[in-house]
Amino acid sequence: MPETVFIKNLKDNVDKEVKIKGWMYNKRGSGKLFFLQLRDGTGIVQAIVSQNDVSSDTFQTADKLTMESSLELIGKVTKHPRHEDVFEIQTKEIKIIQIVNEEYPISKKEHGTSFLLDNRHLWLRSPTQRAIQVIRNTIINGIYEYLNKKGFIKIDSPILTPNACEGTTDLFELKYFEEGSAYLSQSGQLYLEAAIFSVGRCFDFGPVFRAEKSKTRRHLTEFWMMDAEAAFVEHDENLKIQEELIVSIVKKILKENKKELKTLERDIEPLKKIESPFLKKTHAEVVKELREMGSDIQENHDLGGDDETILTKKYDKPIFVEKYPAEVKAFYMKRDPENENLALCADLLAPEGYGEIIGGSEREDDYDKLSKRIKENKLPEGIFDWYLDLRKYGSVPHSGFGIGMERLTAWICGRKHIRETIPFPRTIKRLIP
Ligand code: ATP
Repeated sequence: MPETVFIKNLKDNVDKEVKIKGWMYNKRGSGKLFFLQLRDGTGIVQAIVSQNDVSSDTFQTADKLTMESSLELIGKVTKHPRHEDVFEIQTKEIKIIQIVNEEYPISKKEHGTSFLLDNRHLWLRSPTQRAIQVIRNTIINGIYEYLNKKGFIKIDSPILTPNACEGTTDLFELKYFEEGSAYLSQSGQLYLEAAIFSVGRCFDFGPVFRAEKSKTRRHLTEFWMMDAEAAFVEHDENLKIQEELIVSIVKKILKENKKELKTLERDIEPLKKIESPFLKKTHAEVVKELREMGSDIQENHDLGGDDETILTKKYDKPIFVEKYPAEVKAFYMKRDPENENLALCADLLAPEGYGEIIGGSEREDDYDKLSKRIKENKLPEGIFDWYLDLRKYGSVPHSGFGIGMERLTAWICGRKHIRETIPFPRTIKRLIP
């Protein structure tokens, strides 16, 4: 019996008879010859079925095969006569696992996004959607590799939380037995801050939830975030770590996902330019620049989505926008020692109009200052006692950042809307499938 091989490994099996298990993606031909496009999750291959080379049963089976039918196919692997690195299968035998009797809802014609999202469970099978998930997987591996190499330990933070990093208005609330309300986590950061006192440097990676009513191409209600936190790391070093991490991820994608980038028709020239150093501008400088470009942003405003778009279309490198007015940022951020009104923070904006992919800061490590800010922000004080404790028992300077997995993936894949980068997107108006 021939060995079952994955399509991605056909190159190592030239002239051998192999078995492929997969689905029929497309079919051409008639009369005496069929060209079947098969996919198995690792790639797509063309299988040629010639009436002269197969039994009449197998030829009839090829004739019957419909889109997305599942099958096993045995044949000899050959090199494509003209294209380098392309392999084909000269079919000998086909066994149907399941024949699809209904017309497959997603055809080759153009479909609207809403239809595709309603059929997300099927849309995921398309070559572009597969390519995005494969790249997302490489990004995740790249994050683990880089952070592990730099001494960051994976620490899993809780999803059910009694409090929020930045108040509870934008959180999903649920009833928690006799304890009252619990909230779905919007970030694991506060918990990682506790963990650095145990392991020094750590990160988490998990789903986070935001109930804010943002209907933009950059917002989901459930998304995956990687938070990293490190003891004894101050603002500038925090940016350095983020910069090295992003450079290493982009290099890894360019090396390992050439095929997927091609499937997505991603222009890779802009990605090749992602090298250190990134641009670094203060919020005040950026406000000035944006106003000159026609934005009505005010000095004490956060950057809006449109601001991020126009700014990042102007440069071909990622930009750190640092030192925002403290009033627009979270209470836990340390203040700039040179100007108490500014936060020692930075958002990293991706080029080509993508905008913010990372938010980070040095954290306030002084007990009194943090306690005062919790009061000023009218946050429920008792609930943060444990967080304040961290400033009581061996407090140290520390910093961290959070990467939005979908925004990072959207930029690298060159997809406009982040909803395509998560397998099952959750937005204000979408919970199915
Ligand atoms: P924004 O101002 O764009 O809404 P934010 O300042 O609330 O984002 P952070 O709280 O700093 O974002 O979160 C860290 C990262 O998580 C962001 O840089 C972004 O990549 C991602 N992120 C934040 N909110 C969302 C969302 N609703 N959907 C998808 N990703 C998000």
